[in-house]
Amino acid sequence: MSDKNLKIGIIGAGIQGVCNALFLQKKGYQVILFDRDEPGNAASYGNAGHFSPYASVPLNRPDILSDVPAMLMSSRGPLALKWNYVPKMIPWFSRFVVNCTKNKMMHTAKYMHQILDQSLIAYDELFDEIDLEGLVENNGILYIWNEKNLKSRELEIKIREELGVKQQIVNKKEIHDLEPNLKPIYSGGVFYDYARHARNPKKILVKLFENFIKKGGKFLKLNIQDLNFDESKPVLRSETQRFVFDKLVIACGAFSKKLTDKLHESIPLDTERGYHIHFKDFDHLISRPVVNSNRGFGMSPMDQGLRVVGTVEFGGLENALSKNRIKNLILNAKEMLDGLPEHKDEWLGFRPTLPDFLPVIGPSKNYENVYYSFGHHHLGWTLGAISGKIVSGMIANENTNMDLKPYSSVRFAQ
Ligand SMILES: Cc1cc2nc3c(=O)[nH]c(=O)nc-3n(C[C@H](O)[C@H](O)[C@H](O)COP(=O)(O)OP(=O)(O)OC[C@H]3O[C@@H](n4cnc5c(N)ncnc54)[C@H](O)[C@@H]3O)c2cc1C
Repeated sequence: MSDKNLKIGIIGAGIQGVCNALFLQKKGYQVILFDRDEPGNAASYGNAGHFSPYASVPLNRPDILSDVPAMLMSSRGPLALKWNYVPKMIPWFSRFVVNCTKNKMMHTAKYMHQILDQSLIAYDELFDEIDLEGLVENNGILYIWNEKNLKSRELEIKIREELGVKQQIVNKKEIHDLEPNLKPIYSGGVFYDYARHARNPKKILVKLFENFIKKGGKFLKLNIQDLNFDESKPVLRSETQRFVFDKLVIACGAFSKKLTDKLHESIPLDTERGYHIHFKDFDHLISRPVVNSNRGFGMSPMDQGLRVVGTVEFGGLENALSKNRIKNLILNAKEMLDGLPEHKDEWLGFRPTLPDFLPVIGPSKNYENVYYSFGHHHLGWTLGAISGKIVSGMIANENTNMDLKPYSSVRFAQ
């Protein structure tokens, strides 16, 4: 069989699955995309919409460990726990702590930078084929902070400098000039003028998906419940149907572990839960996404209004939305902007996160015809296109000119 005749299945139609589908299609493969829901209704729907190629500094870092107790004590802080889930997360936390050394932090930063640096160029290959009028803005992204935890901000700036990430340090006046409606609660910040943002991540994803269908791709709305092999060919099962493929990509975001556990691999994927709300018709208050580094949340001007988004909550996939986290977002937004009305649309989403804060991109450890594209934590929206490009290159046996070993699931094999 010539390579071009390969039949490829992809499970998950979030940004990872859809971008993988488009890049595989570009190589001439026949692709079928599966999702139990309509495309783009999970994490890829509710994110902050940042395309943030600069965001190489990971959350596994030495300074974070000493900050965690204070963060957990504060109801206004960026971090929260669902206590009933803590026992289940102990193995993840233990691995996370091991990854908080300076060396491991720099390893993650280096390999996040490698793919983040290519992320916008990879998107352009997909965006060139669709009409995104009014959906992607190029006004940059602004981070602000106050005097608290300045050492952490200095560390981030230093690492980005070392990696060669372009950043513009801004003072109070410059922040005010950029965003005059922000209350002056900040002492400094950093501005990435080349970063972009999505006015409506779901609409962009649907446009990409429609292009995939237009070019002959197939979508089946099915919950994939089981995965095994016929000889070496992956076999998928929904409740009533069976499908055999030459190659398979698992791109189920935070839900990927259910399937990878069936492949005799123990990948320590868990989730960092995140939230958003909207202040309808108040997107005009800012001209670009603004992130408050102290409080760990952001505000993005979007079609739905001002989206206030962020915080990290450890609590698994089953626990209900926490009203306290919603309250946290409302209070944080009101601390930064005057005149906000009643909020709308309380949303909880699941970031797929590995304890070393690197994604899993590449072939399964045990099954050469299965590939992974998940675990992109806070950056899965930014990294959709580049991950799809990398996986499609691997399947086509092309040389990507990148060191891809650090993203392999083999790193979790003991
Ligand atoms: C609050 C918040 C803010 C964020 N902000 C940003 C940001 O500004 N910039 C950024 O780059 N990233 C951001 N992220 C991260 C980003 O949104 C995610 O990393 C990314 O969307 C993950 O994409 P995905 O395709 O891997 O997963 P998802 O979008 O979660 O998609 C997975 C899909 O798999 C499907 N699925 C799962 N299991 C099965 C099954 N068994 N059978 C069939 N279908 C299945 C699901 O239905 C779902 O559609 C944010 C995340 C959150 C929560």
